[in-house]
Amino acid sequence: MNGKEHDPGLENGGPLTCHDCRDGLQEYLDGTLAKKRSLQYFLHLRECSACQESHATMQGLFEMLDTLPACEVPADFDDAILASVPYASYQEMEPLRRERVPVYLEEHFLPQLVRSRTTRWSGLGVSLVSIVAAVALEGPAWLPISAGIGLVPELLVRAQGLGRRMVSTGSAGRAES
Ligand SMILES: [Zn+2]
Repeated sequence: MNGKEHDPGLENGGPLTCHDCRDGLQEYLDGTLAKKRSLQYFLHLRECSACQESHATMQGLFEMLDTLPACEVPADFDDAILASVPYASYQEMEPLRRERVPVYLEEHFLPQLVRSRTTRWSGLGVSLVSIVAAVALEGPAWLPISAGIGLVPELLVRAQGLGRRMVSTGSAGRAES
């Protein structure tokens, strides 16, 4: 609070009102007021028992706060808070946590069978064998086709990942500008 706009007492050079006084008590106690201003508080407090009371209360509170031991935040503070959140609510917050991407870029848009590591790796294996067979052995014409099909699961997963990265860097760029 800069205390200038809402403070007719200061602008008019007149005495502080009780309202102004209580508004700026914290700054007065912190010693952050200008000298002249601080003197106004001092004079008002000397005369006004109601503000004296507020002053004493706040001063007592500050002194009490000063006596509190500094306490370290426990290392597992975040975990403890997360652990206290019911799992159902945590799951409900999932859409808020993740970056917004079009549905076809969501991982679960692809069937689990396509996404599974086994499918992708066997697909790559089939492709590799087909390519080697097609090149080295001049095998049947369907070999390049099976090579292409074998690549499909891996390519789909990678294209999705690339798409998600492009979307998220795009939105990060928009946020910066
Ligand atoms: Zn007062």
